[in-house]
Amino acid sequence: MADPVTRVGLVGGGQMGAGILEVNARAGLEVVCVEVSAHAARSAEQRLTASLERAVSRGKLDAEDRDDALARVRFEIDLHALAGCDLVIEAASEDEALKLDLFGRIGRLLDEDAVLVSNTSSIPIVKLGAASGRADRVMGVHFFNPAPVMQLVELIPSLTTSPQTLDAMRSYVSERLGKQPIEATDRAGFVVNSLLVPYLLSAIRMFEAGYASAADIDKGMVMGCGHPMGPLTLSDLIGLDTVRAIGASMYGEFKEPLYSPPPLLDRMVEAGLLGKKAGHGFFRYADA
Ligand code: NAD
Repeated sequence: MADPVTRVGLVGGGQMGAGILEVNARAGLEVVCVEVSAHAARSAEQRLTASLERAVSRGKLDAEDRDDALARVRFEIDLHALAGCDLVIEAASEDEALKLDLFGRIGRLLDEDAVLVSNTSSIPIVKLGAASGRADRVMGVHFFNPAPVMQLVELIPSLTTSPQTLDAMRSYVSERLGKQPIEATDRAGFVVNSLLVPYLLSAIRMFEAGYASAADIDKGMVMGCGHPMGPLTLSDLIGLDTVRAIGASMYGEFKEPLYSPPPLLDRMVEAGLLGKKAGHGFFRYADA
């Protein structure tokens, strides 16, 4: 791939995509974000602008750097806008069929030496590589939420990822973005979600079975274990559709009952109670 990375494409400007967009723009990279519609692109832009404003008001970014970051970003609704990027990061919804389709279409658009990565939490990287027609230049690069704040990034090469691609992503993440990478094999959930998601699903089952209120389950883990937030608040922050999709992928891979999404989670997603991004999940949020 062209070294160093200069032009980045981002597919999906939701909670994660907008954050990854911000991280790249603040690192001085030109970024094009492709969304599904003009409305979704506007929402992505609003998310980015609001986050940059928060950084300015907290004294973490000066107004000139905010303006420079915004000037490096553009929003499009056609995947062809990704042509010419040397790195494309896919951060669309956690849906295997959607991602396979995107990898097939994006793989055909990119230059020979460009790298295509997914921010997926649980979908097999090897399948995305096969769909792309450029499996040696595909891997997982998994950011954490909120991306501008969280330092960790998981790097997930698949069986078909070349060592050069892994090296390029290692230096992009650590040197260009200043993040802390860890490496994991291509197994649903990688390191962090393999440990985290069964815990979140257990908390949802506990609430569903009436052990305790949502507030008390969370208070128990915050005050009893020193966690920064409880498991139901964290599930709301991740997005209940995403928690369900990650659990379903992990269950599909390992057939471990603890990974299977509980019925209450299914019902909440079907009802549109997706957590903080929808204004309502286990708790209510005024500023969604
Ligand atoms: P989200 O629901 O907030 O955003 C998904 C975005 O993808 C939406 O804006 C949607 O319009 C867009 N999208 C859907 N189809 C598209 C297409 N064909 N082309 C372009 N854009 C499309 O979800 P999210 O939380 O941002 O999750 C995105 C990815 O990041 C998922 O793979 C998820 O597993 C992963 N992830 C999520 C978290 C988290 O805490 N939410 C953390 C790490 C990784």
